Amino acid sequence: MKLNLRRLKRHPRESEEFLISSPGNVQFLDQLGGDFAAPIEGGVSVENTGSMFIGQGRLKTKVQIPCSRCLQEFIYPVETELAIVLVEGEKSSLVNPNEDFVSFDGDEADIDFELQQAIFMALPIRPVCNDDCQGLCPICGQNKNAQPCSCQEDKTDPRWAKLRDLR
Ligand SMILES: [Zn+2]
Ligand SMILES: [Zn+2]
Repeated sequence: MKLNLRRLKRHPRESEEFLISSPGNVQFLDQLGGDFAAPIEGGVSVENTGSMFIGQGRLKTKVQIPCSRCLQEFIYPVETELAIVLVEGEKSSLVNPNEDFVSFDGDEADIDFELQQAIFMALPIRPVCNDDCQGLCPICGQNKNAQPCSCQEDKTDPRWAKLRDLR
């Protein structure tokens, strides 16, 4: 997804609204075993400060990711903010290199990576399909949401078991 800054470049101190629509890059979610279930959509307001372009916006999408308890894939709706800084190639040296910004040449700035990153940051570390998800039985592997199993779970904390053995 590229933002065309041709008009805004000629108007320092002005802002322009851009619509965002991107299918989402699957590779980014691959490491989670996930996939996009809807395009990334939203909008961003970009201001030309004279030396750079600063964008603030909102994004939403739906991703399909595996539940950390039962491993079943489920749809997780994402709504998050987008903050981007775009700097024209020749002005890049004026910007603090520790700052995160997109360098671009010509009229178009590619913000795909920033979109993926914003979505990625909005995902939970341990996604659960449902707060009541029972997960998998650690003994037989049965998905306990579908059917309870008859395993007798040993509720003893293994650390206490160790202590008992020492006695
Ligand atoms: Zn689950
Ligand atoms: Zn079981």
